[in-house]
Amino acid sequence: MKRKLLIATHNQGKLHEYRKLLQDLPLSLTYLDEIGIVEEVAETGSTFAANAVLKARHYAALTGLWTWADDSGLEVDALQGAPGVHSARYAGSDATDRDRFEKLLMELDPYPRPWTARFQCVVAIARPDAGVECRSGTLEGLITEVPRGANGFGYDPVFFVPQMGRTLAELETTVKNGISHRGQASREAKALLTNLLKG
Ligand code: IMP
Repeated sequence: MKRKLLIATHNQGKLHEYRKLLQDLPLSLTYLDEIGIVEEVAETGSTFAANAVLKARHYAALTGLWTWADDSGLEVDALQGAPGVHSARYAGSDATDRDRFEKLLMELDPYPRPWTARFQCVVAIARPDAGVECRSGTLEGLITEVPRGANGFGYDPVFFVPQMGRTLAELETTVKNGISHRGQASREAKALLTNLLKG
C-alpha cells in the first residue's frame, strides 16, 4: 500500500497548483479539508522556513502522517522586503486578494520604478517519527502598476515575469509551475521524498 502524504494547506490557490505539481509522486495524497481538519496554525515565525517547519510539525504530530507544508510570500525591495512573511495578512484578516494587491500598489506609488520583487517559497517535509527537512525556491520579477490576467491567486496579477513578458496571472498553471518559487521548491522536495521513501 502507498504511504500517505498530507498536503497541509487551506489555501485553494496553492492546492490547485499542488494537485498538478505532485500528481506523479509515488504516495497517496490527502488534504486537510479531506480529513476534516479546519484549524489553522498561527504563523508566528519571522522567516518562511520557520513558519513552514511550524506548520509541517504541527500537522504531522496531529495526524501521525508524513506532512508537506509550505510558507511563501512576496518581498518588494522598495518596501524593505515587505509584505514578506505577512503577505497573506497584509491588508487585514478579512481582506481579499484584490485588497492586498491594491494596498501594495498604493504603498509603492511614491517610489521610483521599476519595482523589483521576488516570490519566496519554503516547503517543509515532516515525519512524525523523524525530523523535518526544508527545500526552497525563488522567482524574481517586477510589480506592475496595472493588474493583468485572471489565473492564479494572491499577487499574481501584479507580478510581472520579464522572461515570459507576462504577469503570473496571465500564465497557465503548468507554465507558472515550471518557473515559480513553489514549482522550484516542490521539485526539490519531491526529490527529497523519493530518497526518504528508499529509506
Ligand atoms: P502563506 O504561505 O499561507 O502564509 O500565504 C502566503 C501568501 O503569499 C498568499 O496568501 C499570497 O497572498 C502570497 N503568495 C504566495 N505565493 C503566491 C503565488 O504563487 N502567487 C501569488 N501570491 C502568492
